[in-house]
Order: sequence, then structure tokens, then C-alpha cells
Amino acid sequence: MTIWSRFFSKDIGIDLGTANTLIYVKGEGIVLNEPSIVARAIATKKVIAVGTEAKKMMGRENADIQTISPLQDGVIADFELTEEMIRYFVRKVQKNKLFVRPRVVVSVPSGSTEVEKRAVRTSCERVGAREVYLVSEPMAAAIGMNLEVEEAVGSMVIDIGGGTTEIAVIALSGIVRHESIRVAGDAMDRAISDWIRQKYNLLIGPREAELIKMRIGSAMELDPEEEAPVRGRDLVAAIPKTLTVDSREIREALSEPVGQIVAGVRRALEHTPPELAADILERGMVLCGGGGKMRGLRERLTEGTSLPTFVDTEDPLAAVVRGNAKILDEFDRFKKVLY
Ligand code: ADP
Ligand code: MG
Repeated sequence: MTIWSRFFSKDIGIDLGTANTLIYVKGEGIVLNEPSIVARAIATKKVIAVGTEAKKMMGRENADIQTISPLQDGVIADFELTEEMIRYFVRKVQKNKLFVRPRVVVSVPSGSTEVEKRAVRTSCERVGAREVYLVSEPMAAAIGMNLEVEEAVGSMVIDIGGGTTEIAVIALSGIVRHESIRVAGDAMDRAISDWIRQKYNLLIGPREAELIKMRIGSAMELDPEEEAPVRGRDLVAAIPKTLTVDSREIREALSEPVGQIVAGVRRALEHTPPELAADILERGMVLCGGGGKMRGLRERLTEGTSLPTFVDTEDPLAAVVRGNAKILDEFDRFKKVLY
């Protein structure tokens, strides 16, 4: 590297999530946090909008436009669109500045196949990365939450994203055990819309379901319980309608996916080697991902597993990208977790 490229190069950390993409630029902080969604023209396949703009079109698509999540259930469902999305976001954070090709640390789901890892690496190279390093998401999250990943003791991370809940036990800079379940934020949204349709004959879109979840969703009793308006289409009268739901009803709607997440965590604990299980019993497990923000979930997990559970004290949705940032900032220290 010449002195000039060192001078102008700004390293980048990317959390390519199924629901949200976050980007960290060294020296600047987390500069981008947008939905992992692309809108395109159906006929020409031309990309019309990416990120926040594309999400606004969700549920409002017309005959010419469709919105797509290129990553689904924690895996890359569409390689080309994923690359277009990365390109758009990377350009956006680089604005008009003249960057020398940056070093990029990008996180991938723990269960990614070689083909998927290869695709992410190639995409980052094609959008201008000089060096690309991959890190598994739970490892990045653990580093982002300042867990002692290098020590000979087990740490447990539960990352509840959009498509999947990733449960991982980490020790000695490696992932000892990993379990991925396809129940996370999206499944919670579906549970809410199914429930409202069945109980009130009201059809609501995925964004409306997500908003209700974020506003009054909970996994344990709230004091006081809360209410929120829901807008949808009445299936009987076929007209738009608004009604009010309360947090007790939404909790009932969420009980199935929440129960599945608790069961998944219990299963992962049963499969954990005894020495590490003892560490986790003592030190507890740490919750992150956007889904980790749901009220009462920490308590529900503690109750369902009899283990102390903590939530990322900064921003659970940004745990992974903070990890990528820390890896870039202390590159030599964390080199061994990269591939
Ligand atoms: P991914 O890593 O898959 O991109 P994220 O970690 O960004 O996922 O989390 C996205 C999920 O978190 C979405 O399903 C979103 O609805 C959910 N989420 C965000 N904020 C909250 C909240 N306050 N309560 C419950 N769920 C939330
Ligand atoms: Mg994630």
C-alpha cells in the first residue's frame, strides 16, 4: 500500500441483514441503516429504488413495480439484486468523495454456504473493495457487544433478525455451536396480520403489522397495557377501516413465534457441551438484533430457560455492524475471526 492509498482509504464494515443493511465507515461511524429491499420494474427488471425508498413502495406496488428482499430467511435469495443493493449503498456512503479502494469487513449468516460466501466476496470486490474479509454474524455481534470472544469461556448470543434467529455459542475466537431457526421478526409480523384477519376480518399489510409490533408488541405483561390503531381493509364490507387493538391481543398473537424462539434457545442449550453450558449458566446469554428490542422478550427467555438473559445495552439492531467496526479498528487483534 502506498502512503497515498493509506491516506485516502476509508475502511468499511457492512452488516448485510435480511431486514436491514448497516454500514460503518472508519473514522465516521455508522453512516447508513436502511431496509434490505429493492424495488424494480417488472418488465425491464430495472432497479427503481433501494433501501428506505423501496420499503415505502412495499404493499403499494402496482402492475409495473415489485419490491424484493434479495436476502431471505438468512440466505441470499437473489445474488444479482444483492450485488446491486450493495453497490447502491456503498456508493451512497462514499458520496462524491474520492476513495481509494477500501478494505471491507462484511458479515454473513453463520450457516452460509461456500457459494453464498463466494458471492458476497465477489460482489464486494466488484463494487470496488480492495480486500474483502468475511465474519460470521454472531461472532461480529459478540464482538460488538464486548463479549470476551477470545477467552476460553463460552458466551451465548441470540440474534433475532428479520428472517432468522441465530443462536451461537462462542469460545476461543470461534463458533462452537450454532443453530438457526426460521422464526424471527417477519414471522412475528405474519402472526399479527393472520390474527387480525381471523379475529376482525381485517386485512393489513406487512408494514402495518410491523408497526403494530414495534409500538405495542410484547412477550410479557405490560404495566399499563397499551393500545394502537390498525389500518386495513375490511374483508366483508371491502372498504378501508381503522380499529384499535391492545397489547394483550397482540401478545396473544405473538405467543406462537415467541414460544418457538424460546424453544429454539432451549434446544441449542441442550446441544451445548457441558463445560460451555456451565459457563453460560453462570454468565448468561445476550440478546441482540432488531427483534431483541421487543419488550418483555428478555424476561420471557429468562423464564423459559432459567438462565440469566441480557439485552445489548447500546442498540441491539446495530450490534453486528458495531462488531464489524471494532474488527476494522483493531484489525490485528481480530484477524483470527475473519475468513
Ligand atoms: P436482519 O439482521 O435480519 O437484517 P435486524 O437485526 O435489522 O434484522 O432486525 C430487523 C427485525 O427487527 C425486523 O423484523 C423488525 O421488525 C424488528 N424490530 C425492529 N425494532 C423492533 C422493536 N422495537 N420491537 C420488535 N421488533 C423490532
Ligand atoms: Mg442481522
